[in-house]
Amino acid sequence: MKRIQGENPNLKDLCLPFTQFCKLNKIETVMRIWIGPFTSFGYGYFDEMPAAYVLKYFDVETTLEFIAMRLWTWKEGTEYIWANLNEAIKHPAILKIEVVKVVRKNGKIHVTVKDEKGERTEVYDKLIVTTPLDLFAQIADADEEEKDLFFKIVHEKYISMACRPLKGQNPPSTPTSSTT
Ligand SMILES: Cc1cc2nc3c(=O)[nH]c(=O)nc-3n(C[C@H](O)[C@H](O)[C@H](O)COP(=O)(O)OP(=O)(O)OC[C@H]3O[C@@H](n4cnc5c(N)ncnc54)[C@H](O)[C@@H]3O)c2cc1C
Repeated sequence: MKRIQGENPNLKDLCLPFTQFCKLNKIETVMRIWIGPFTSFGYGYFDEMPAAYVLKYFDVETTLEFIAMRLWTWKEGTEYIWANLNEAIKHPAILKIEVVKVVRKNGKIHVTVKDEKGERTEVYDKLIVTTPLDLFAQIADADEEEKDLFFKIVHEKYISMACRPLKGQNPPSTPTSSTT
């Protein structure tokens, strides 16, 4: 694998807020199309989000699926998938359990978990982290380098709202600006 260092001047526009990026590249119409599946889905406002973040989400495949309205939702939630999958796999995923402590010691992973039966520590060979890394650093024996890296993560708040306008007070059917 070749490691590339330095700055690509062609990519610096991607750091701009998406509104500025669109103006610069004369593609302002895309904001009207994408505001629905972006801002109303809770991903943030175009005047706050860096263009790179918006464009990473709207790759060609995702955009085409949105246009064709081929959207899947999980009626029973994603835990239901695991509950069914568990019946067919050798090492089922343990559900409804909280990991409260992770200690890496003598080549083994000591994981303290908590459920309605109380706390217990289990020993594993390998550790695969799938929680946000800054959360992991809070419960695990993270070293200084891990803490330094993981606490650099910045989270965007996800706020999603459903509104029903009062009778006779419907908003205009066409948004008048990209922030409505
Ligand atoms: C607003 C928004 C909309 C999205 N829409 C879509 C979409 O339409 N389609 C799509 O494919 N993707 C969508 N995504 C992305 C998708 O949700 C994520 O990519 C995916 O959930 C990441 O899965 P994950 O398993 O890595 O992490 P997560 O789903 O975040 O899973 C991490 C899990 O770890 C658990 N956890 C944390 N700490 C502990 C602990 N101490 N002990 C035990 N468990 C713990 C959490 O409860 C959580 O269940 C969306 C994301 C966001 C934020």
